[in-house]
Amino acid sequence: MSAPHPVKPYPIGIPGKPWGAAEKDAWLARQRVKRSYAVEVLARLERLPAQAELFQYGALDYALLGWGTYPLFAVRTRAWNPDRPVVLVTGGVHGYETSGVQGALQWLEHEFHRHTGVINLLVLPCISPWGYETINRWNPDALDPNRQFKQASPAAESALAMACVAANCKRVDVHVDLHETTDTDNSEFGPAKAARDGVALDWNAIPDGFYLVADRERPEPDFQRALIDAVRRVTHIAKPDEHGHIIGAALQQEGVINIAQRSSGLCGGMTDARFVTTTEVYPDSPTATPDQCNEAQVAAVRSAIEYLQAARAARSCGADAQPAQTAAACAQANPGLR
Ligand SMILES: [Zn+2]
Repeated sequence: MSAPHPVKPYPIGIPGKPWGAAEKDAWLARQRVKRSYAVEVLARLERLPAQAELFQYGALDYALLGWGTYPLFAVRTRAWNPDRPVVLVTGGVHGYETSGVQGALQWLEHEFHRHTGVINLLVLPCISPWGYETINRWNPDALDPNRQFKQASPAAESALAMACVAANCKRVDVHVDLHETTDTDNSEFGPAKAARDGVALDWNAIPDGFYLVADRERPEPDFQRALIDAVRRVTHIAKPDEHGHIIGAALQQEGVINIAQRSSGLCGGMTDARFVTTTEVYPDSPTATPDQCNEAQVAAVRSAIEYLQAARAARSCGADAQPAQTAAACAQANPGLR
């Protein structure tokens, strides 16, 4: 758990006064490259299984701001079949959230190939590479990409990701967006946001454990529960605070809160997928290793795909019950159905 409120004011700007260009420049001047997108992400994308097709969907040109150009890559099923369901996995919308990127890469390397011939997969493993390199929540324009998944988005990270998904998928059935909630949300990024916007800090305790953010407009509680049950085998699930909340939102069921993803401009709101969730791994837990954090992301994606397949099997059987209850019986009756 992070230090209790109050947190000291952010060192840029005047409290209560929103930042202008000078303050944003001062913020950007404090940022440094701390790790390599080329080494930690791009090099691993060169070693994908044959069933995976790597392609570039754009580039972030931050040369004018004194930074480099960042090519953006996605991976899709090479034998894409429009008759099959589509699963979208997004990572690194918040570049600093390491397991969102590394978990996506791990899943690509070890599990992507299993689904060829059954479903179509589209994976955007690192949507915010500048944020990955500088360990930042924002992009260089001091914008949070995960509030900018909306029309005419001012964040290139969000706009290019949306365009990639729209160009590749007529529809999406499952979308899993991989994130972390870190102690730096309270020590750095929350105070920076309050300073940027000239408002008081909206402080919430950082929960120790994994949780999911469902979309309030399509919560699908059984889907969320299946993912929680899968992840709890890898790492512990977050408990609510004394108000029954996680990061200020009321707990819906163990480890699950609902947020209006579309109106908040969240990545999870960018498609019409029936099954949508945002994972939130807690990497600063004294009882969670980086490997566990990556494995928790992998378990969430794996479970989401299994849930989709069970739901389709149940529907093919004409069953009204929940997928988890009917899938086994249905698979026995229809051995070829996946
Ligand atoms: Zn995040």
